[in-house]
Amino acid sequence: MEVYKFGGASVKDSPGLKNLGEIVLKRKSNKLIVVVSAMAKTTNALEEVLFSWQDGDVKNALDKIETIKLAHHKIVRESFPGLSSESVLNQVNDFFLKLAALVKLSPSENKSYNYDKVVSFGELVSTHIVYQYLLSLKLSCAWVDAGDLIRSDNNYRNAKIDWDKTRDNCQKYLTKSKADIIITQGFIAKTAEGQRTTLGREGSDFTGAILAYSVDAESLTIWKDVPGLLNADPRKFPDTVKLDEISYREALELSYYGASVIHPKTVKPLQNKSIPLYIKPFGDCTASGSKVYHADHYDADVPSYIVKEKQILISISPRDFSFMVEEHLMGVFAAFAKHGITMNLMQNSAISFSAVVDDSQQLKDLVEHLKGDFQVLYNTEVSLVTIRHYNEDIIKRLTNGKNVLVEQKTRQTARFVCAS
Ligand code: ASP
Ligand code: MG
Repeated sequence: MEVYKFGGASVKDSPGLKNLGEIVLKRKSNKLIVVVSAMAKTTNALEEVLFSWQDGDVKNALDKIETIKLAHHKIVRESFPGLSSESVLNQVNDFFLKLAALVKLSPSENKSYNYDKVVSFGELVSTHIVYQYLLSLKLSCAWVDAGDLIRSDNNYRNAKIDWDKTRDNCQKYLTKSKADIIITQGFIAKTAEGQRTTLGREGSDFTGAILAYSVDAESLTIWKDVPGLLNADPRKFPDTVKLDEISYREALELSYYGASVIHPKTVKPLQNKSIPLYIKPFGDCTASGSKVYHADHYDADVPSYIVKEKQILISISPRDFSFMVEEHLMGVFAAFAKHGITMNLMQNSAISFSAVVDDSQQLKDLVEHLKGDFQVLYNTEVSLVTIRHYNEDIIKRLTNGKNVLVEQKTRQTARFVCAS
């Protein structure tokens, strides 16, 4: 059994869907789980639907649903010949009718609960189109709601996995299913009470890893619009190098520092069961791509660098000029956890604690929370540069002409917070 994950870019249009079909046809193992994200941009568009619904603007929410529906109609019309497209269009319409019915109800007080109910439609409908498409290729396949496989808690928008229950569900479902190919959604799950949850933005890679772990798959392959794992973001740097093979540990470090090719939660379940992860280019299924497994011979050969822009450097000091000691830090950490804010870098001095974070609405709430006991200062629009396996040349290249506000170095990793 293998697991393939296709992101939103792979199902953004009819050529993408056809390409997906070809990749599935050329698979090595007979049994395959196919995990698919929402069509490109759909999750963002559904977030807009949610905002209109919560603002009480039902008309606007319905208009936005209509626009999303038409984008799905386009791919269906172009992918299914003649009459068969009519029946697929009807099925697609059923999903959007359900969503429209939802936004006509009053939203719950719990915004995250509403969020998961609305945005999950993106994956439900994209997988349905993929399912119908693979059926039209005469493949033996089945569609399953990922919520019937992946059990989570009710921490909406960032739900935690019940690994035992998920494993049971997967094993039970798989022994029952006669289909060769099982198509399911990335990103979404359900609670024990059957409520819809999501696993965090870009969480479909993680779904691939959860399922691979739960069925003891031979491998997980993530099909992407890049040649594999690169040592830097090709949109920002012209001279990137593909990392052919790296260790789980290196992949974990890179994803933690913000390499966007793999979702940070993806590596651990695979490492725990020694399941290799392949990252392969969607456009060329014979290319070797990158492999992540128990290898360490290659890790240090190529410096990798990650630049996170639009970061905020926040400095927190006790108001009474006392040392920033454990009791203060406990309160600061608890406040970050309460507001769900991830620290991308942290640094401590005698009287202040600094952290680099993404800009967000939650950050404003955090600052309000901390202001009682602490003086809170921040620099906006800073960038956070991380270099794994650094050398002086690469440091110069990435920090040249910039005002470096914070610098941290370990043996393998150099990090800089720069104001431009
Ligand atoms: N559709 C979700 C998102 O855009 C999940 C994913 O793409 O992985 O965040
Ligand atoms: Mg995605």
